[in-house]
Amino acid sequence: MKDARRILELVRSVCPMGVFPGRDEEGRAAWEPDPFHVLISTVLSQRTKDANTFAASSRLFAEFDSPEMLAKAPQERIEDLIRPAGFPRAKGRAIKEIARIIHEKGDLVPDTLEGLIALPMVGRKTANCVLSYGFGKEAICVDTHVHRIANRIGLCATKDPEETEYALREAVPRDLWIDTNSLLVRFGQTICLPRSPRCPQCPVAPWCDFYERSQGGAGRGLTRAPHEKGGTSVKGRAKTGRP
Ligand code: SF4
Repeated sequence: MKDARRILELVRSVCPMGVFPGRDEEGRAAWEPDPFHVLISTVLSQRTKDANTFAASSRLFAEFDSPEMLAKAPQERIEDLIRPAGFPRAKGRAIKEIARIIHEKGDLVPDTLEGLIALPMVGRKTANCVLSYGFGKEAICVDTHVHRIANRIGLCATKDPEETEYALREAVPRDLWIDTNSLLVRFGQTICLPRSPRCPQCPVAPWCDFYERSQGGAGRGLTRAPHEKGGTSVKGRAKTGRP
């Protein structure tokens, strides 16, 4: 089995600051990362970029900053405020309904996977984001970046994000579950890109199945990351083809 701790620490060495829905590139947000804010921001983050989520969340919470305020807000105004995140009608309806349900339960966001996925537009990914980032509970939020990168490296061999979540629960030490999402998302946005991964710049290359296959197995003998002292450049190896 791959050493997931080592791999995640190498990822941290090049992407020290994680991200999560509703924060900007510098990790800033105009609101507290409590379960309510994380839940609404994560719904807004579906099918859009971080910058759009940040803009929509900031605009929305500047005007409606509690479940009660959001539940009573005019639908059209919500849609207007969240427009930067896309799908304003569907997301607007969902977050207003979520706010209503939460407000009726004493402004308490459910703190279980089952309770969260009962809410509109909340699937396992969103629920695990809320559990990990909002409640600080051990959970692994698997989005497209996490699913892609975990399979490329060989931490798992799975067909969909749900399978990946279960596989990573076995592969990743529990104290790293919360960090797994934020580390791999930033890594997937900067180095392990969806279409053209920047393998020559990647410290994980010596442990990566995708890289090894791309080199016809030449990566197997590499024992140090390229940026580590004494490490050999992956780029150089790729050019020479020598192990
Ligand atoms: S070596 Fe390439 S494919 Fe593997 S984790 Fe790094 S960037 Fe991604």
